[in-house]
Amino acid sequence: MSVLVIIPAAGSGTRFGTAVPKQFQPLAGKPLVQHVVERFLLDEIVTRIVVAVPEPLLTVVKQSTDDRVRFVAGGATRQESVANALASAPDEFEVVAVHDAVRPFFRQMTFHAAVDAAREHGAALPALPLTDTIHATRDGWLAATVDRNNLVAAQTPQCFRYDVLRDILARAREQDLDATDEAGLAARLGYEVRVVPGDPFNIKITRPDDLRLAEANFEEWSCG
Ligand code: C5P
Repeated sequence: MSVLVIIPAAGSGTRFGTAVPKQFQPLAGKPLVQHVVERFLLDEIVTRIVVAVPEPLLTVVKQSTDDRVRFVAGGATRQESVANALASAPDEFEVVAVHDAVRPFFRQMTFHAAVDAAREHGAALPALPLTDTIHATRDGWLAATVDRNNLVAAQTPQCFRYDVLRDILARAREQDLDATDEAGLAARLGYEVRVVPGDPFNIKITRPDDLRLAEANFEEWSCG
């Protein structure tokens, strides 16, 4: 089996409120995205990793010593960054995994479950059931309570058969569709997307508090 991993790391990270985008913030002494790359490199099923970075950084990112890793310039949106990364890689891969640069604690078990489900069904994502009650709000007032029974919170790595990801990205471009994740896009374009169990430690580091939490729990959350 051959697996291509795409890591979109070209965002400006405005919610983090710092000049350095969140994916390059240090965690336990290393940029977040480096943790992610190194974790994938430990996995023998990973044949190639393509990291999409902000264009101005292309010349300064150190080329990894591992020849499985490549860097490309990202695009204006996450979707464009993923498309650039896919276009840069040869089409010999069976499965493509797309993983947020800011989720350093994904587990191999979760990744492999998504890869296997994608091989079987075409597309798969890890997700967790919601535990909080979810309300819709309007102008600072509670507007409606959402039935959370069928709701899940999406995580990554999201996995696709190569032809499925290529097709959804091409059709999204043609139809001018933009989505916050590729699994949602696949479902919108008519593919069945299998949900596999997510992991509570696989948090998305979005705000400075998330980074403090990650730092405090680094040892425990990074094993596995
Ligand atoms: O903004 P958000 O947190 O949803 O971004 C998710 C991931 O997509 C991050 O790793 C971010 O760096 C990446 N991204 C990208 N290119 C963009 C925007 C976001 O690679 N233009």
